[in-house]
Order: sequence, then C-alpha cells, then structure tokens
Amino acid sequence: MRENKLCDTLGLLLDVENQKLVFYLNGDPLPPYRQLFNHARSGFFAAASFMSFQQCEFNFGAKPFKYPPPQAFQTFNHHGHLTDEERIILPRQKKLDLLMQVTVKEDSCTLCFDLQANTKLLDCGHQGFCEECALQLEKCPICRREIRQCVQVSSGTETNSADASSGASSPGRPS
Ligand SMILES: [Zn+2]
Ligand SMILES: [Zn+2]
Repeated sequence: MRENKLCDTLGLLLDVENQKLVFYLNGDPLPPYRQLFNHARSGFFAAASFMSFQQCEFNFGAKPFKYPPPQAFQTFNHHGHLTDEERIILPRQKKLDLLMQVTVKEDSCTLCFDLQANTKLLDCGHQGFCEECALQLEKCPICRREIRQCVQVSSGTETNSADASSGASSPGRPS
C-alpha cells in the first residue's frame, strides 16, 4: 500500500457575530464569504463531498488545531456530539463492502434484520417479517395489500396454514 501523502490543512472559521465565513488554507485566510448568512443563522453542519479516492480527516476540536484562528473561538465539539459510529464516514463502496460482511441470520426479519422472521401477513400471505415489525405495518410492504391479520409461522416454514381462511382469532402479540 502506498503511504498517504500529507495534504493541505483547510480551516473553517464561522464568525457568527460578524456574519462571515473564512476558509484558511494552511493557516492563510481566504477572502471571507458572507452570503451564507443571508439564508442561515443557526444550525450549521460540517459537510464535505469527495471523489471516492479522496479522503480527509476532520478535526472538530478533539485535537489542538494545527493553525488555530487568531481570535477566541469555540469548536464544533463545544456544541455537538457524535457517536463513535458517526465519527467515521466511509466511501459508499467501502461501506457496502463492510455491510456485505455483516452476517445476518438467514431467518432474520427483512425489515429490522434483528428479530426472527416468524410472521405471515394475511390475506396476501407474504412473510419474512418479525412480529414487532409486522404489527407496525399497515399494508404489506411487498404487495401493498391491506393486512387483515398477522399469523405466526415457525422459523420460515409455515406450520399453521390449516385455518388461515377461518379468520379465527388474531394470534398477534402474546400478552
Ligand atoms: Zn423486524
Ligand atoms: Zn403481500
């Protein structure tokens, strides 16, 4: 693997009081940008877009800045909070590759991928959903038909098909 070459440090100062936005390239300020404040006054989010081969590291204040702005400032970290998962943004392809490696049990619910798919929708008969998800559905997500009833099937294979048409009781949630 080729070692990454260290690139430029791009700084961003959001000067809310003076309503200007200043980018810094390796510590040198670029001309301020003010138009943003015509539209936005609060709720600023850091965003960047990349080609798939490009990468960068964000520093929201967790580490000392390489080129700190001359005036007093606060960092994004003073105001926001990211979970560990949110701290890493992978290129789409890499993310998909990782998702492919996640093993989902074969009988998992196709909606939450968590609980066991043990519920069948009537009248259409589509299955692959867990009880929790099925109870939140109004229409079948596969065929869009109204759900008259949810019945339990055992691990993918149907066991109580006999009285599907009798419309007996709704064996939905055990309570
Ligand atoms: Zn589910
Ligand atoms: Zn259906």
